[in-house]
Amino acid sequence: MDGKGQLVVIALGGNAFLQKNEKGTVEEQWKNVYAAARQIVDLVKSGYKVVVTHGNGPQVGNVLEWMEALKDKIPPLTMDIAGAMTQGWIGYMLQQAIQNVLIEENLDHRYRVVTLINQVEVKKDDPAWNNPTKYVGPYYYNEAEVKKLVEEKGWVVKPDPRGGFRRVVPSPDVIDNVEKEAIKLLYENGFIVIASGGGGVPVVKDEKGRVSGREAVIDKDLGGQLLASVVGADIFVILTDVEGAYLNYGKPDQKLLRELTASEAKKLLEQGVFGSGSMGPKVKAAIRFAERTGKPAYIGHLYKLKEILEGKSGTKIVPDKK
Ligand code: ADP
Ligand code: MG
Repeated sequence: MDGKGQLVVIALGGNAFLQKNEKGTVEEQWKNVYAAARQIVDLVKSGYKVVVTHGNGPQVGNVLEWMEALKDKIPPLTMDIAGAMTQGWIGYMLQQAIQNVLIEENLDHRYRVVTLINQVEVKKDDPAWNNPTKYVGPYYYNEAEVKKLVEEKGWVVKPDPRGGFRRVVPSPDVIDNVEKEAIKLLYENGFIVIASGGGGVPVVKDEKGRVSGREAVIDKDLGGQLLASVVGADIFVILTDVEGAYLNYGKPDQKLLRELTASEAKKLLEQGVFGSGSMGPKVKAAIRFAERTGKPAYIGHLYKLKEILEGKSGTKIVPDKK
């Protein structure tokens, strides 16, 4: 395999940090992060330039839990700050693991790694602001407590299908990656860049272009496709814990979809073939990247990154033929 200096933007899913049946101890996190780092360095070794992004669902959930548990002792922070904290946490771990694997592979003289605290501008007038849908943070079981949170903090709290009540926040669409120039400069100069973690810290711009954070979450795959598009990726890869997008997923006749045009994928998406909070957003993000850039996007298993790029594994989404 020869990457020929092509830029691959890789979106790491939750399993890059926390596997099913794990508690999330620091040891488990390092083990998972190193496994992901080896995959990434393998690509670098094959001549690809790499920019990495990642989810932060469980981690930002933890930060919000800590804030809630300690709220009488330490004033709670806001969600945008919690998001930035997780970019630091996960970015640090990835950065160190990738750096160490580069040293083991004698590649450290050619490549460096860096994490960016990365803001993503979201649509101010997105209908999502009036319809928060993303459950975040701790579960509440006391209705009086819920009432107080709604009144005092202005939160929207809804019954969670999994039981109890939880805060819901908007998940707006994305406009631009605020630090895109820095990311370009870095990868063009031999850096592996970790950016747009957790989809990016959501910010809005005022009339002068000044940014401020918002209490919202950006879908990581949506932020990933934006990142890939604006930094000029040749390939966008979404890595998760399944081989790709399936028809009849979880049923005895499930079938891995190997290649779809953007239009074919859209049709299946509309038919509800892909889980709305899981595979759906990945397919949506892959379609957007393909349509926007004319380049391919892949969805596949974290431990098959190389096979995916070789066309031996995963689901490939390509732009419609003109
Ligand atoms: P990540 O945390 O890696 O971003 P998610 O857990 O959000 O990933 O999404 C991956 C999951 O999507 C799979 O583990 C699978 O259970 C689910 N899924 C839902 N529909 C499909 C489908 N049609 N094909 C494949 N996976 C699907
Ligand atoms: Mg998952």
